[in-house]
Amino acid sequence: MTIIRGATTVEADTPEEISGAVKELLDEIFRKNKLRKEEADGFLFSLTTDLHSRHPAKAARECGYDFAPLFACTEPETEGSLARCIRVMLFTERPAGSAVSHIYLRGARVLRKDISEIYNIALDGPAGSGKSTVARRLAEDYHILYLDTGAMYRACALKALREGIDPKDARAVGKMLDSLRLEIRYRDGSQHTVLDGEDVSEAIRKNEVSLAASAISAHKAVREKMVKMQRKIASDMSCVLDGRDIGSTVLPDAAFKFFITADSRVRAMRRMKELESRGQKVDFEALRKEIELRDKQDSEREFSPLKKAEDAVVIDTSEKGIEEVVAEIKSLIQSKI
Ligand code: C5P
Repeated sequence: MTIIRGATTVEADTPEEISGAVKELLDEIFRKNKLRKEEADGFLFSLTTDLHSRHPAKAARECGYDFAPLFACTEPETEGSLARCIRVMLFTERPAGSAVSHIYLRGARVLRKDISEIYNIALDGPAGSGKSTVARRLAEDYHILYLDTGAMYRACALKALREGIDPKDARAVGKMLDSLRLEIRYRDGSQHTVLDGEDVSEAIRKNEVSLAASAISAHKAVREKMVKMQRKIASDMSCVLDGRDIGSTVLPDAAFKFFITADSRVRAMRRMKELESRGQKVDFEALRKEIELRDKQDSEREFSPLKKAEDAVVIDTSEKGIEEVVAEIKSLIQSKI
């Protein structure tokens, strides 16, 4: 017996999208493998946890794949898993070891390293420049991972604050790192930062964590540990990374590099709105000063300062909306492919 694998993704969890994607995937598997109906012994589908609106076995039956048993299950949540992904295993009576074509369509191509090249997009820039919104959008549009590297430094800062460690104290921070267990997990396509087994994705967004993150990220030992994790993730799969030193230090060979910036008043205003939307009240002037202090700390530190990589394209977002910035970056990427 031989198994032919396939996977695809859908834009949205709707019955029409799932039916269309299942049909396209199965048609392609049969076409590429010159498979006859009689050769199929069964289909096993699996869906990521964000898909519910149509049972893929039903979708397959409805489009004519009713000649072999059909099963479906939900996948366990897996680190780095794609969003809205449908996988299938097709069992055939072809002898074991037969040459077959496994089919990966749409965003699912990134699951197969042998058919999709890994590439990274580096977005650096100061706080509030809009990097994270842009990064999230690019990751969605290109079906690749978004790695928010700031969250990792924030998690270190949160641990220090909780343990009463001064984030500026290199020795104490160095010791703390020995017991730091940091994991980046993906659920429904969004990043979850797990510190010592606890999901701290919300807790790290508190304003007091921001300044502490800026202080703690200046230590060489912290940077070495975080950069190592970031490089590992980026070498395993295509991703958009946002941070301060991605293009200059973490991934100097990234295929695409952008430096996103904006006037500090505009950035403070954006941060204020973001914090307010999370229910945190802040004073605008205090926030502006804090952002400028963070810029200064981040730019003047010795190791991996906030710096534009020489080959990064600068995008000033002060007077641009998100759609405009995303469109501009996508057209620059397109022109380089
Ligand atoms: O981007 P975000 O505001 O979440 O980052 C928090 C802090 O983490 C920044 O002020 C910066 O000092 C630090 N950071 C860093 N290098 C990165 C990402 C963030 O030093 N790649």
